[in-house]
Amino acid sequence: MNPFEMAQTQLGKVADMLKLKKGIHEYLRRPQRELTVNFPVRMDDESIQIFTGYRIEHNNAKGPYKGGIRYHPQVSLDEVRALAMWMTWKCALVNLPLGGAKGGVICNPKELSIRELERLTRRFTSEITLLIGPEKDIPAPDVYTNPQVMAWIMDTYSMGKGYAVPKVVTGKPVSIGGLLGRFAATARGCVFTIDEALRHLQYEVGEEDPEKGYRIDGTTVAVQGFGNAGSLAAQFLKEKGAKVIAVSDSKGGVLAKDGLDVDKLIEHKTKTGSVVGFEGTEELDLEDVLEVECDVLVPAALEGQITKENVENVKAKVVAEAANGPTTLEADKVLEEKGVLVVPDILANSGGVIVSYFEWVRCPQLFMCDEEDINTKLRAIITNAFAEVLRRSEEHKIDMRTGAYLVAVERVAKAINVRGIYP
Ligand code: NAD
Repeated sequence: MNPFEMAQTQLGKVADMLKLKKGIHEYLRRPQRELTVNFPVRMDDESIQIFTGYRIEHNNAKGPYKGGIRYHPQVSLDEVRALAMWMTWKCALVNLPLGGAKGGVICNPKELSIRELERLTRRFTSEITLLIGPEKDIPAPDVYTNPQVMAWIMDTYSMGKGYAVPKVVTGKPVSIGGLLGRFAATARGCVFTIDEALRHLQYEVGEEDPEKGYRIDGTTVAVQGFGNAGSLAAQFLKEKGAKVIAVSDSKGGVLAKDGLDVDKLIEHKTKTGSVVGFEGTEELDLEDVLEVECDVLVPAALEGQITKENVENVKAKVVAEAANGPTTLEADKVLEEKGVLVVPDILANSGGVIVSYFEWVRCPQLFMCDEEDINTKLRAIITNAFAEVLRRSEEHKIDMRTGAYLVAVERVAKAINVRGIYP
């Protein structure tokens, strides 16, 4: 099943529970707009290479479309459609007045020079200027894009307008209106949800056997993916006293049963391009990080990682989905049967879009928010959303993902109903 079929199936499950009208369900099953662009880029050797990219706008019933841009060789139309739909639910779940979108370019940024990357970004921005705009559709970073890429998008868009339009993207560098704390927000939000999950388990287990309660202090963690979301989640968890025992990136994994020095590991990855070869660690195969004996597993790479093939070997008690769509539908069922608490992606990684929203609203006002204030607000929003999802899932005796979808899809359907169907 590809990610879009998976997203549609997840929606179908709650559409029945919410008794959504057939027409509204059909409307939500597909994106409102899809743009495919094939565009040329002049390479450093003067050859011309054609790239394909997408900008997909799923739904804007609750506000302007919002969603990241991904650069990856495996980007596909259906992947971007799924990611756009998940953005709609995520924004609704944490009560932001935003809709859902996503973009992607099929490319391998590791094989491009910095100038090629800039030319690709600027041309792609021009191509999707049909859709994006500060009040219409606002991109942000995703896999293999970063604040620098956002700065080029903002600059290209602004050149076309003839004035600076910082609100056209979020996740930009602080020097052009980015927000302190946005870079770390996805990871920070994910760690707040892990806190809540552990607190919840401790409460449940604590009733019977206080000795077995879980505390973040001393909790063991494995993290798949060591980029923006994964490496910072590992760092924050370590700061809180958790023991990060295994991590991986696209080149392989490392294990240290006594815990990794995450700061040094980040330095090692910056220097060598991978976590592999970090001193004092055992090497792990790529897939093995998901199967390590640990309390908390944080998938923070790509979709479809926990599957029916490996789910039986997942030993964690909590899976916090920093990545979008890391668990297949079949694996999801097995995790539920095994009693694993899965904090679903639309909740666990919503910190990024929450702080993006802060960046977007404060942009024209130019007042400075301090990082502590931002983190306090982020924590309040994500903790409330966690409590709401938990309440829904307990009320209906369903898993957290279905609980989260009930809350989010209901809100979007309500927004459609109250706006009415035009004309
Ligand atoms: P990133 O480009 O910063 O990092 C991606 C990491 O994944 C890299 O370390 C890469 O080596 C690793 N990776 C790729 N393939 C892998 C594999 N097969 N096994 C192990 N590691 C692999 O990207 P990111 O922004 O951290 O995004 C990671 C996930 O988090 C994505 O699913 C993304 O959609 C999601 N997410 C990111 C944000 C954000 O603000 N950046 C917000 C919400 C969700």
